[in-house]
Amino acid sequence: MAKINENYQNVKDSYLFSDIAKRVANYSQENPGRQIIKLGIGDVTLPLMPAAIAGLHDAVDEMSRAETFHGYGPEQGYDFLRSAIHGYYQTFGVELEEDEIFVSDGAKSDIGNITDLFAVDNTVLIPDPVYPVYVDTNIMNGRKIIFMDANEGNQFLPMPDPAVDADLIYLCSPNNPTGAVYNAGQLKAWVDYAISRHAVILFDAAYEAFIGDDSLPRSIYTIEGAKQCAIEFCSLSKTAGFTGTRCGYTIVPKSLVFEASNGGTLSLHKMWNRRQTTKFNGVPYIVQKGAATVFTEEGIRQAHEMVNYYKGNAKIIADTLTEKGIPFFGGIHSPYIWMKCPNNMKSWEFFDYLLQNANVVGTPGAGFGVNGEGWFRLTGFGDREKTKEAMARFSKLF
Ligand SMILES: *Cc1c(COP(=O)(O)O)cnc(C)c1O
Repeated sequence: MAKINENYQNVKDSYLFSDIAKRVANYSQENPGRQIIKLGIGDVTLPLMPAAIAGLHDAVDEMSRAETFHGYGPEQGYDFLRSAIHGYYQTFGVELEEDEIFVSDGAKSDIGNITDLFAVDNTVLIPDPVYPVYVDTNIMNGRKIIFMDANEGNQFLPMPDPAVDADLIYLCSPNNPTGAVYNAGQLKAWVDYAISRHAVILFDAAYEAFIGDDSLPRSIYTIEGAKQCAIEFCSLSKTAGFTGTRCGYTIVPKSLVFEASNGGTLSLHKMWNRRQTTKFNGVPYIVQKGAATVFTEEGIRQAHEMVNYYKGNAKIIADTLTEKGIPFFGGIHSPYIWMKCPNNMKSWEFFDYLLQNANVVGTPGAGFGVNGEGWFRLTGFGDREKTKEAMARFSKLF
């Protein structure tokens, strides 16, 4: 009889976004004609930028001619894209080797797949509230998880606790859902903690492009010692609107070497390379050609314009909350605003209140973890005029 991975029984079903959709549908049905504005989206809404579209078109044309057709490509990504990403890292002072960069179909898959490299008996440290992928992938593998509280007291930026012994540490900065960003000193404390325990930090930099202050780290490798302890995941999804086009990259430094129980050495870089060449056949040539345009001077400018549009929306939301004296985090170096529910409302209570009284939809913070209760996520990924309209309605309530 087939023996099944029973850990899957321990993965909680995620009803968050389907529950939201149901409540919105019910409300619409009972109140026809209301203009509902959705500020709960975690997906981009602007079309792909012209530079990327041109790159994609050119690549499609190449695929139509035998001389320029591309079949299987390198599993790790084409040199032209790895080289472009390498150059991008240099712009914020990080010197990588090009073959430490692995191109992928997005950060989510790599964050899930990286668990292949680690034994089951690792203790995993994960912040709460959190992007659910870190939690669920480790539950699927049966690892022990310790949650660290992110709350108002620590500005939603939990710091290492010397009393907690962790082997794998997930950090996300700028954070989804809270929008909080670690500064260099705080990340240095995490790097020091990880090195002191031979732990590995799994650093999710999916929102690095939203950082508008050069003193805030856009990569964990801007921190001394990070190449000894950290793997970094990044993505073009939020940087350049590639959520539907699919392209990301993961950095696995060659200096991440561990001692094996038989006295040999285990290089995470070599292992990831082996894992990817075995289980993955690379990102489509067409997509990589589109992705490479994002790292050209013009591409960076166009991507920046989109990011600034979303940040402009976030600022409209943040300014309204400031005006109303409602506490919140994020909204500056992030598309996310993490607000405290007014009048001590619980997350879902506030969801219903906002839906019924302003016809505005957000995401209940409780859906991201126990520390999210009483908090609420709004996003800047919407349309400018609709965001303004939503905040005008919001203003009348408080
Ligand atoms: C959107 C997002 C990603 C990116 O995922 P992709 O698979 O590259 O689209 C990664 N991490 C977090 C926290 C995100 O919100």
